[in-house]
Amino acid sequence: MVQSADLRRFHMLIGSDWVNASSGEAFQTDNPYTGMPWAAIPTAAAVDVDLAVARAREALEGPWGALTATARGRLVRRLGELVAEHAQELAVLETTDNGKLLKEMLGQLRAIPGWYEYFGGMADKLEGTVPQDTKPNIFAYTRYEPLGVVAAILSWNSPLLLLTNKLAPGLAAGCTFVAKPAVEASASVLEFARLFEIAGFPAGVFNVVTGGAEVGRQLAAHIGVDKVAFTGSTSGGIAVMKTAADHVARVTLELGGKSPNVVFDDANMDAAVNGVVAGIFAAGGQTCVAGSRLLVHRSKQEELVERLMTRAAAIRMGDPLDLATEMGPIACLPQLQKVEMYVRSASEQGATVAFGGTRPEAPELSSGYFFEPTVLTNVNTDMRAVREEIFGPVLSVIPFDTEEEAVRLANDTSYGLAAGIWTQSIQRAHRVAHRIRAGSVWINEYRTVAYNVPFGGFKESGIGRENGVDAIREYVEPKAIWVNLSEETRDPFMIG
Ligand code: NAD
Repeated sequence: MVQSADLRRFHMLIGSDWVNASSGEAFQTDNPYTGMPWAAIPTAAAVDVDLAVARAREALEGPWGALTATARGRLVRRLGELVAEHAQELAVLETTDNGKLLKEMLGQLRAIPGWYEYFGGMADKLEGTVPQDTKPNIFAYTRYEPLGVVAAILSWNSPLLLLTNKLAPGLAAGCTFVAKPAVEASASVLEFARLFEIAGFPAGVFNVVTGGAEVGRQLAAHIGVDKVAFTGSTSGGIAVMKTAADHVARVTLELGGKSPNVVFDDANMDAAVNGVVAGIFAAGGQTCVAGSRLLVHRSKQEELVERLMTRAAAIRMGDPLDLATEMGPIACLPQLQKVEMYVRSASEQGATVAFGGTRPEAPELSSGYFFEPTVLTNVNTDMRAVREEIFGPVLSVIPFDTEEEAVRLANDTSYGLAAGIWTQSIQRAHRVAHRIRAGSVWINEYRTVAYNVPFGGFKESGIGRENGVDAIREYVEPKAIWVNLSEETRDPFMIG
């Protein structure tokens, strides 16, 4: 039994102050590998949310807003350098909190500085326009002004990467932030917040409030919030969008997926096996782009399933802090129970659990929230496990006979986040990539992202794009300024 005195205590950053919740309330967060609580995190009260938004507004209208774009960009790049210096400790915090492999979190933390360098460099390259000869004696020009105070609401699977996708372009554009990480993974975001003062940012540019959905709702509803940048489930995104609509706050939504990995009969099978494993068993399937539906040409189904099962059997499950581990635990108990529910329901509806389907038996894994890599065959496209996002290591295998059928099945989903295509035909690869309605399509590749390539969803997988040059446009308001150059007075009853 962990005594509350043994828990590591974290505080929220509001303005320049590290604070407990004003109510004194806190929640405990589990280490998914041990199943034991390890940290206590404040549960923000409404007044804490109000104060954080007020501090973000003061910074926007005060010292942060007064900086030149070049000075702003320099600070953003400095933040990236500091992340690089602290990558190891931040990655360990993420792994302790959400159970994902240290190998993966370290990879993300080492990549994150690239985002700050890229967008920091963009800060002073935002340029308005001067539309010429608009009207006689009228001079018009445009400016791109910071959108304002942004609430960044995050899911737990990659807290600092998901935050960075919003923060790097948003800071470069001149916005200020109140972040609200997920209850399952708040620690790394709170620790990262320390870097702002070290980098030399004015107080209030970045604030963090912690707590659950209610804290997120208060932020989305807050009249002082100009935009909500949200990553989470589709149902959460819909709720946020409705709440934000009451005061016409802007939203970008990065939501769920049910992505297909499409393997044609001419695919390089070694590469395809590796890609399917990367899509669904890496990160224990807890990734928005999980390739959870395997569409495979019927002639290759048996061979591919056989090889996947052999690979799945060899996956090393264990301590996520051990760099040799290939699959860690699921992030929290309710999520583990959800994964179990989907496998049970598929099985009751007639699916075959070809591999896995249960918690592993190994005694050393019994305290953690582990679930075996799981392969479901004999599924049909009406099953919940095939239609809904599971967010766990569960693969549904669906055969097809023709390219036309593969495209139809790939698009037979309410989601549209990502897809993989495995073929050696360059013509077919591009033809199919153009027809799949998804924001990212990988050809003979899976699960790669970069700061300079747009990322986001079609359909119910989201609104807006993160990454890439255009991401900064999600954090600005274009303003048109009109100047009358004539000395004459015009008819006030005519539109000019
Ligand atoms: P979730 O929707 O339950 O929660 C996400 C965040 O929103 C949390 O911080 C939560 O406290 C908050 N929240 C929940 N309801 C809210 C409400 N009504 N108003 C305001 N805030 C609210 O999602 P989750 O379970 O934490 O994360 C898993 C989901 O995130 C999956 O669906 C996954 O696909 C998605 N995801 C998407 C991307 C992407 O880039 N598209 C990346 C990672 C995860």
